[in-house]
Amino acid sequence: MSSVKGTISKGNTNLTAEKVREVLDVLKNCYPDAECALDHGSIYQLVVAVSLSAQTTDASVNKVTPALFAKYPDAKSMADAAKADFEKTVADVTSMIRSIGMYRTKAQNVVKQAVAIVDNFGGQVPSDMESLMSLPGVGRKTANVVMAVGFGQQAMPVDTHVLRVSHRIGLAGESSEGNPNLTEKELISVIPHDRLTEAHHSLIFHGRACCTARSPKCGECRVAEYCCFFAASVENIFKK
Ligand code: SF4
Repeated sequence: MSSVKGTISKGNTNLTAEKVREVLDVLKNCYPDAECALDHGSIYQLVVAVSLSAQTTDASVNKVTPALFAKYPDAKSMADAAKADFEKTVADVTSMIRSIGMYRTKAQNVVKQAVAIVDNFGGQVPSDMESLMSLPGVGRKTANVVMAVGFGQQAMPVDTHVLRVSHRIGLAGESSEGNPNLTEKELISVIPHDRLTEAHHSLIFHGRACCTARSPKCGECRVAEYCCFFAASVENIFKK
């Protein structure tokens, strides 16, 4: 990716600390209310909602969780049902989440999660990454969301929006492109620790509203002046 004098350099991890802060400030200004869009009433329900959200929109998850949480509001209610009849409970959850992607696998995971939370953690969602990631169906991104949104810790969950937007802007460099774990490490290294969760939400909101996957609206983007992708696009136009 090409450079633009005075702003950013190729493959940027070269945005200066000051420029990184400016990008975060602009995004915060654009999306002051950016927060987790998954409806939940407890940390347990957050774990379930995030688990259901893989490769599915938050809006679709929010359509199925009210009935699911009404019947199984906590890990104990789900685990009790599973211990009485595992297959029946999975079938019940499956029927309630059928409208979202990968519902069969997700139903299995959600039921197993409840059993693991009850059996291994006394019915309370654990508050450390390692324990969270020991739960069925909970990967690094889900665990990071639970740490950030559920437990109020600073964290950088890297979903598809964060991955795409952070690389386009140049907050993360080419070496971590397409790799959520490396991108998380890189973003943690360049974003002030006390702004990690804020940056996560801002990047998601920007990815949804402006920096969309197929047709980013660079002409109306407030961080275009910092953006590697935009700089390269402009340079290409002048080359033609
Ligand atoms: S300028 Fe374009 S590519 Fe860069 S962040 Fe904005 S919308 Fe995304």
